Amino acid sequence: MRDLEAFVKGLDFSGGYDEKKAARDAVVERIQMLAARYGDAAATLAADFYNEIADGAGASVADAVLADTATDASVAGSVRYSAKLLFGQEPDADAFRRACAASLARFVKKAANDTVSKNAVRDGRRGAKFARVPSGSETCMFCVMLASRGFVYANRETAGEFDHFHDHCDCRVVVGFGDDAGVEGYDPDALYEKWAESDHYDYMRLRAERDKGNNYQKYLEKLSRRSDAINAGRG
Ligand SMILES: [Zn+2]
Repeated sequence: MRDLEAFVKGLDFSGGYDEKKAARDAVVERIQMLAARYGDAAATLAADFYNEIADGAGASVADAVLADTATDASVAGSVRYSAKLLFGQEPDADAFRRACAASLARFVKKAANDTVSKNAVRDGRRGAKFARVPSGSETCMFCVMLASRGFVYANRETAGEFDHFHDHCDCRVVVGFGDDAGVEGYDPDALYEKWAESDHYDYMRLRAERDKGNNYQKYLEKLSRRSDAINAGRG
């Protein structure tokens, strides 16, 4: 990331339209190159990590494969979008620099996450599943409920990777084989007890009994439909 910082700092965004465009295109090329290089490195680490988890759990799976890194087109799209910050009424080169750094970080992280997802979906029949793991001090009872189910989710989406159910939600979605995946401090049984003792548990049960069409029921049905579809697709 330092490479990018130094590179972007060395560019001049104060010129006219053509100069700015040239500087923007230079950033596009640089981030394409770095997204491929760092993305590959991140994917390789993620594959090693996945192999270790599978080994640790005694799962007999093939060596993890790497996911593709960001395409040149998606990098170009993202940087060009951020470059609006340079061409507006009040150009903000610093905001553009920050946006570029954030894009690169996102592309690199995605290569790692995609690698884990790709292999976990491949190995779903051999027990690879995702869990929602609470982290941080605040966790709402809905997250506790999802987390208490352990490694049951067929993919990141069903574990609610992109859903943040409460303020400051920093729940992570992690891969594992079986409930004891060695995630430090993650204890689904303890979470289940915590959830079962909460008002939220009573509330959910009451609602489920009172109204079969309620959101919780729908949510669970959606989860199981999704994982059925994924399991069927894996056939
Ligand atoms: Zn959460």
